[in-house]
Amino acid sequence: MYQLNTLEASLKQFFGYDQFRPGQRTIIEAALQGQDVLAIMPTGAGKSLCFQLPALLKPGLTVVVSPLIALMQDQVDALRDNGIGATFLNSSLSLEEARSRQTEIFQGRIKLLYVAPERLLTVSFLNFLDQVRDRLSLTGFAIDEAHCVSEWGHDFRPEYRQLSQLRDRYPQIPMFAFTATATERVQQDIIHQLRLQQPSHHVASFNRPNLYYEVRPREGYGQLRQAILERPGQSGIIYCISRKRVDELALKLQTDGINALPYHAGLNAETRSEHQTRFIRDDVPIIVATIAFGMGINKPDVRFVFHYELPRNLEGYYQESGRAGRDNEPASCILFYSRGDANKVEYFIRQKPDEQEQRIAYQQLNQVVDYAEGSSCRRTIQLSYFGEEFPGSCANCDNCQNPSPIEDWTIEAQKFLSCVARCREQFGAKYIIDVLRGSKQKRILQKGHDQLSTYGIGKDRTADQWQLLARSLRHQGFVDETTDGYRVLRLNPLSWEILKQQRQVEIRVPRQATTQTTASATPRAEQAQLLFEQLRQLRKRLADEQSLAPYMIFADSSLRFMSQQQPKTLEAFAQVPGVGAAKLSRYGEPFVTVIRAFAQQYRRRVNRSHPSDTQQFTLDLYRQGCTVAEIAAQRDLRQTTIMSHLSEVLEMGHAIDVDALVPPERQEKITGAIAQVGDFSLTEIRNKLDESYTYGEIRLVRGVLRGQQRSEQQGKI
Ligand code: ADP
Ligand code: ZN
Repeated sequence: MYQLNTLEASLKQFFGYDQFRPGQRTIIEAALQGQDVLAIMPTGAGKSLCFQLPALLKPGLTVVVSPLIALMQDQVDALRDNGIGATFLNSSLSLEEARSRQTEIFQGRIKLLYVAPERLLTVSFLNFLDQVRDRLSLTGFAIDEAHCVSEWGHDFRPEYRQLSQLRDRYPQIPMFAFTATATERVQQDIIHQLRLQQPSHHVASFNRPNLYYEVRPREGYGQLRQAILERPGQSGIIYCISRKRVDELALKLQTDGINALPYHAGLNAETRSEHQTRFIRDDVPIIVATIAFGMGINKPDVRFVFHYELPRNLEGYYQESGRAGRDNEPASCILFYSRGDANKVEYFIRQKPDEQEQRIAYQQLNQVVDYAEGSSCRRTIQLSYFGEEFPGSCANCDNCQNPSPIEDWTIEAQKFLSCVARCREQFGAKYIIDVLRGSKQKRILQKGHDQLSTYGIGKDRTADQWQLLARSLRHQGFVDETTDGYRVLRLNPLSWEILKQQRQVEIRVPRQATTQTTASATPRAEQAQLLFEQLRQLRKRLADEQSLAPYMIFADSSLRFMSQQQPKTLEAFAQVPGVGAAKLSRYGEPFVTVIRAFAQQYRRRVNRSHPSDTQQFTLDLYRQGCTVAEIAAQRDLRQTTIMSHLSEVLEMGHAIDVDALVPPERQEKITGAIAQVGDFSLTEIRNKLDESYTYGEIRLVRGVLRGQQRSEQQGKI
């Protein structure tokens, strides 16, 4: 079957994957040759495998240094579920338990040992390691989250500094350092602090092609709720800045029947860890959190990360949004943006006593605002922050999918700049805009600015449009702004060129707000989705039985593959990505059983052209007396979807009492309209009625009529 001597064969055998991800093979080969390694890879790139596979292929023990106890437990559980000998030692264990794990190690049953840095450097542990080296052998030290060693990084840990002692004590044993965040400065610092010797140095691209980036103007809670409801059953994180906001939002969602939990540093440790566990185990799909939530969250199937408030800086945004889609499956990162946030942050920056600090803060703020308000590819903006050039046209961000049109706004620019000049370059954009729009504010009248020739000449544009212009002029360098905190606008030579009609001004204007329309599902896709849900439930049950997180059993991508290919034998099941030898023997049976049952059931359904499972489910609940809103809430679907189900089953000829949904007199009106224009076009039917009639109501009544016709025809046959 496999050529057992290749690295790919081991990859399949131990982890069930067919191919290496970019960079993995090179790093693994370097590690196998005993070289030091420094690997910088973004979240989700697959760093762990780079030290795990060499550990499995070499005789002896690999020691993994990892900063967080929760993370260790996670990785060890996942490895064990792949049938790999792994364990950890940390302060949470009793002396006895630690002893028994050491015995296991000496028996050669363990390939990977996870430890916290503070433990690693105790005298007793070092003595233990000496014995391991002498009796078995030490294959290497893997340092996870290696940026913690550097004060220049964002997460410095003094214990990490001490790791250089390992070099003194074990000069011959290779060290493998891994991290997801590293500026050039931090990279050099890691090499220096850990005393890596001519390390094989890999820097992967920070582009995460599977993540969709979008910025939406924030309109309020309803919009957020809608975005969540459009993603039924998906795991997601919603980030806010303040604890108060987190608590409020989580409560609101709960009251609305959306299963969400809060997480922030103000909750006690027990609650935090409970909420985190429930999220990881798929008991609760949504976490509302401050940035305290993140590091140590290994959950690979987070399908969306929403920022409900402006992130502090662009690097923070990249890291936080990057918690989505670690499994490389599609995931969405949406920033709900309001300019008010930026003003608030600015206010706080102004309170900072230190000038240098202020300048850095301003720069960081400008970078996130540029991202949020920018009209070029979101990836290009982000990656340029990491010094990476990205050509744009990524096809997976809002700006690339729906580029905003460029318009000539030279005349508006002239009005604006001339108003700046007439106000003697002493005011900020907001004041200039008020003058242009003819505001009657006291301040303007007192200064006599209502007498200026530019007063009121900008009423044809909204304040927002003028702000857009002002920002664009600033970004394009067509006007200057003081940085003393007051942001007074000043004309520069380019401004004068515009005023003298020597220069055109083009700006990108926001496109019409569009909603991503999801193509209506084909029967095949719908079938796969149903099976996917069943497999998810099975996965959850098996996980609960073993107190594991569901993703440790199979990744979403594996379930998706199963639901599309429907492997009905163990041989076929072995071909599923993520199914290695251990998983095949452990989970092959139950999964194949569910898939077979599903396939049989579905075949019968299709033949009879009866309601699909999902329609039937809705129908059953409706007949039990549930309202549409209740069904929608219970099934995590939109009410419009439930209404469609009902119209569809009506058309199939199933009798439902719709009087509760459409009062009889309204049914009559709709029937009358259909008699006039036919039942083909919903729009035409609605045009015959007044605006109070919804498409949902029309579809229902049309469903009743079509259902009746159908029964009559069948009666004739
Ligand atoms: P990182 O530590 O770099 O954030 P992980 O090591 O947690 O990433 O890996 C992210 C996910 O990708 C995990 O679910 C892992 O099993 C999976 N993965 C790693 N390597 C591969 C591969 N070669 N093919 C498919 N999936 C992989
Ligand atoms: Zn793009």
